[in-house]
Amino acid sequence: MDYPFSEEHRIFRKAVRRFVEEELNPHVDEWEAAGIFPKDVYRRMGELGFLGIRYDEQYGGAGADIWSTVVFCEELGRCRSRGLTMSVLVHTDMSSPYLYKYGSEALKQKFLPAMIRGEKVGAIALTEPGGGSDLAAMRTTAKKKGAYYILNGSKTFITNALNADLFFVACKTDPSAGHRGVSMLLVEKGTPGLSIQKLPKKLGMHASDTGELFFENCPVPAENLIGEENKGFYYIMQGLQNERFVSAVAFTSSAQQALEDAIRYAQERELFGKKLSEFQITRHKLAKLQTKLEAARQLLYQAARVIEAGEDATTIVSMCKAFCADVACEVADECLQIHGGYGYIEEYDIARFYRDIRLWKIGAGTTEVMYEIIAKRMGI
Ligand SMILES: Cc1cc2nc3c(=O)[nH]c(=O)nc-3n(C[C@H](O)[C@H](O)[C@H](O)COP(=O)(O)OP(=O)(O)OC[C@H]3O[C@@H](n4cnc5c(N)ncnc54)[C@H](O)[C@@H]3O)c2cc1C
Repeated sequence: MDYPFSEEHRIFRKAVRRFVEEELNPHVDEWEAAGIFPKDVYRRMGELGFLGIRYDEQYGGAGADIWSTVVFCEELGRCRSRGLTMSVLVHTDMSSPYLYKYGSEALKQKFLPAMIRGEKVGAIALTEPGGGSDLAAMRTTAKKKGAYYILNGSKTFITNALNADLFFVACKTDPSAGHRGVSMLLVEKGTPGLSIQKLPKKLGMHASDTGELFFENCPVPAENLIGEENKGFYYIMQGLQNERFVSAVAFTSSAQQALEDAIRYAQERELFGKKLSEFQITRHKLAKLQTKLEAARQLLYQAARVIEAGEDATTIVSMCKAFCADVACEVADECLQIHGGYGYIEEYDIARFYRDIRLWKIGAGTTEVMYEIIAKRMGI
């Protein structure tokens, strides 16, 4: 049963899957080793119409629905470089939505079509060396001076730091007002005073370029303010919902693929005179993981329905992010175990998946932060 997807979604799914299998997967070992992938990938995805799925046609988008985003994330989640998946989602669903939803018409006209064509790559800069979970405590400041904001401070763990042309930077325009003093600025690469440094090698997500940003008296044109001054925290709280949802869809799909790989392996591997998949302990382990993945997927689809209805999805999206990350990490651990020693060898994708997937208990809001949000909404 393919409910809730239509024929159009099925055609779109095929197109994304073909692209991932034919144009991405053959190169992922090279890109993982390089710690980055070529920007041409974005241009190609722009040509294929993958970068503006839910954006208005007037900017070059497809004007499609949330289920098209689900399809896109599920298929991109099957890329054998989850780092690439993450980087692309940062562009499509974690940075550019701030421009689309809150940017002035002039700013949208200037940058959005180029982002949808993949000519300009986006990054979202929230986290600072002093902390990521406590966003209101950020120290980066922007002081208005004539026609510019003068930006000072630093950001760390920024995905697409090297490939990005446009940084959506959270900063304090009123440092005395706590979260009510946060704004968001669109900072172009090449702005004087902006320097970028690649972070040392990560545990996983190797093809995704992660770096630090330093702003030293960086003049950002005042018209690059996203939305209104001091409303940034509200925009970020909204934006993070989408970020958490799309990442959960993608990594749950990656986990489904890891399970399929493990099933194939168990059906081929022979020991004690039979296939590994014929041992009841293995069969039950695989069945249990499939059950948990199905529960994760149904939670995600319910969240998509809530988002589609335009209702507040904060609680269910937080549940998705926390629950799906736990399930995906369990899938990684158990499926690596099924591969025995071969699971520990890079030649098998499960080794990379095991390293990659661990990020999702941390990135886009940690599991602890998700449960804190849920607990507050439970009134406890
Ligand atoms: C590969 C990678 C890519 C990333 N990409 C981006 C990006 O593109 N843009 C961006 O802005 N950020 C990005 N991040 C940063 C990421 O969002 C943060 O790492 C994350 O939000 C956690 O912040 P922190 O690392 O400062 O940990 P901290 O906030 O210092 O948390 C440390 C520990 O304290 C726990 N904790 C926090 N609050 C509570 C609480 N109330 N109760 C109990 N425990 C708590 C946390 O769960 C965690 O276990 C990325 C991180 C990585 C590793």
